[in-house]
Amino acid sequence: MAALLATGLLPRPARAAGDAACDPAQVRDGVADVLGPRAARNCRRKLHGQRSERGHGIDELRFRDVDAGHARHHVAGQRRVALREGPGAERRKRRRRALARRWTELRPTLRGVGGACGAPDRRERAEGGTVPEPLIVFESNVRFVNWHRNVQVEVARLYDAWNRWSDRSRPTTRRWEPGLRALSRIVQHAEADGKRVRALGGAWSLSEAAVTRDYMVNTKPLNYVDVGLKPENVDPAYAGNPEYLVFTQCGTSVLELNRILERRGLALPTSGASNGQTFCGAFSTGTHGAANMVGSMQDYVAGLHVVGEGGRDYWVEPASRPVVSRKFCETLGTELRRDDRLFNALLVSFGSFGLIHAALFMAVPIYLLERHVRPYSYDRVRPSLSTLDVSGLDLPDGRGLPFHYEVVLNPYARRDRQGAYVRFMYQRPYSALPAAPTTTDTRVIMRPSDDVLSVIGAIGDVAPALLPYAVEELLEREFEPQDGELGTPAQAFGSTTLRGSVVSTELGVPLLHAENAVEAVLAVANDFPFAGLAAVRYVRASAALLAFTHHEPFTCTIELPAAGSQRALEAYDRIWNELERRNVPYTLHWGQILKNDPAHFRRAYGTRLDAWLAARRAFLTPAGRRTFSNDLLERAGLAS
Ligand SMILES: Cc1cc2nc3c(=O)[nH]c(=O)nc-3n(C[C@H](O)[C@H](O)[C@H](O)COP(=O)(O)OP(=O)(O)OC[C@H]3O[C@@H](n4cnc5c(N)ncnc54)[C@H](O)[C@@H]3O)c2cc1C
Repeated sequence: MAALLATGLLPRPARAAGDAACDPAQVRDGVADVLGPRAARNCRRKLHGQRSERGHGIDELRFRDVDAGHARHHVAGQRRVALREGPGAERRKRRRRALARRWTELRPTLRGVGGACGAPDRRERAEGGTVPEPLIVFESNVRFVNWHRNVQVEVARLYDAWNRWSDRSRPTTRRWEPGLRALSRIVQHAEADGKRVRALGGAWSLSEAAVTRDYMVNTKPLNYVDVGLKPENVDPAYAGNPEYLVFTQCGTSVLELNRILERRGLALPTSGASNGQTFCGAFSTGTHGAANMVGSMQDYVAGLHVVGEGGRDYWVEPASRPVVSRKFCETLGTELRRDDRLFNALLVSFGSFGLIHAALFMAVPIYLLERHVRPYSYDRVRPSLSTLDVSGLDLPDGRGLPFHYEVVLNPYARRDRQGAYVRFMYQRPYSALPAAPTTTDTRVIMRPSDDVLSVIGAIGDVAPALLPYAVEELLEREFEPQDGELGTPAQAFGSTTLRGSVVSTELGVPLLHAENAVEAVLAVANDFPFAGLAAVRYVRASAALLAFTHHEPFTCTIELPAAGSQRALEAYDRIWNELERRNVPYTLHWGQILKNDPAHFRRAYGTRLDAWLAARRAFLTPAGRRTFSNDLLERAGLAS
């Protein structure tokens, strides 16, 4: 265990116990509250998957490819830190062993305190046995900072949920169970303390979707994945192939899923441009890519396992498309709810129905993407914007719309000059590439510019008059032409480690209005230059009630990443106003900068919003709705 502690694979119990021993009031139900600024600093580092030499007594840092290990390392990109011992290692090992001994001595005391609070150490299992208590660790008064540092909040408690029991052991079967129990206990803690609670995924949202000042839950250690369901776990009416059904706990990252699926000859049907989100975090805000015939990430989710009020858990799936059998729910020990409205409300609900423990989704057989990048003038791509008719672009496969179609626009370029970069990918049958699919990290065909949100931070502070030139230089540098490079989805949508100070808002408009919406963006940018660009993508309409990609038959998404500044935020305001002036209906990505106006959300979602509110009211009591709400929900008029 000391070795695990040293590498950070386990939280540091000695510190938790030490602090707790000073003040037994900080210990409840066998859970130690870690106090102090140093704990908060460490916590921040861990959240971003970063590790520092000082904080962990590491002597030398070097990097190697990830081959296994802990979810927290994955967000740092494709590499993880490996440790090599240096001169002070022996002394530090002795100290760690002493701390571990102290923890062993203290553990009975902590149990005693928990017991005194009336918490049973073991729970009755439905089938007669007992369930041990899960390991729960939290740190108090933590400053939470999101990936792009535009959201910063003091949080009363940041919990870690683990697939470990309170004695730190891991079950050999039902490996997801401690994590499920931990989420349930955390909800009970929040309710007992009258606090709100919210799950945190990869912390990639630029909105406050994941944030509450009360209790937040780091779900990333919950990364159990099972590929393929046994026939007895599938409803007889299910028409699909059970071998393609994937059960994943909420904290599994898109990167981890890509790696696991590729080894099995499978792939995600679509994802965002890069892979640092957790699976549940991604679909909870409606994350999408540019696979225009597929839809967004929530559109291939088949069922959800959610921990709601009182810590009770439910399996939710659509009544019109049942997937799992009663036996599956018995194994999970959960209650089955088949309900189309509830399912479609829960899919994109940004943590507002409870803590989602796991999801079941449909993977597809692995395929290849043939990738091209070509520069055009705006005048040349313009006819395709509201029609998806690409016949004027002279693409390799002729008139056919590529599987992935995306236009990145320099808003300041002359319309008849190069300033529209079309990135398109054809779906091709899978055949072995020079590098095997398991080595996804070594053969990534993604370019840094693929994640427009990440590269835009490079512009930084530039005087408004110079912005058109800065954007032009950036795009010319980043969007080098590419012609037919092949890769798997994991290779095409790889990792980003770029983290500038960036803001972004993303519009969703019906296909027919796409050209008018782009014109609105260009008009504002030229009138009021800001350090940003526009990335236009298309997806099939989503059935999720609050999906910002719900516009039929296709939603055109226009992402507007910009270097973080007050000027960019003002530009967004002007763009929203201009869209309203032009009567362009639009929605906004829940994971990006949002309007502070409940009337906007009512206009944008209409009866879908009523259905979402009704589903939430049917699922949660008023107290439950308060527990699972936050400031964003209140500002959007969705909390009650
Ligand atoms: C570099 C970068 C690139 C991006 N690229 C794209 C893109 O290509 N396409 C796109 O659409 N978006 C993109 N985004 C936006 C991003 O995909 C979304 O904001 C996404 O929701 C972030 O996922 P996350 O795992 O980081 O979740 P978080 O940001 O941590 O959380 C998102 C929401 O999910 C909820 N949540 C998380 N886990 C759970 C759970 N277990 N139970 C209940 N609720 C939960 C949170 O409470 C929160 O409301 C990008 C963002 C960044 C920073």
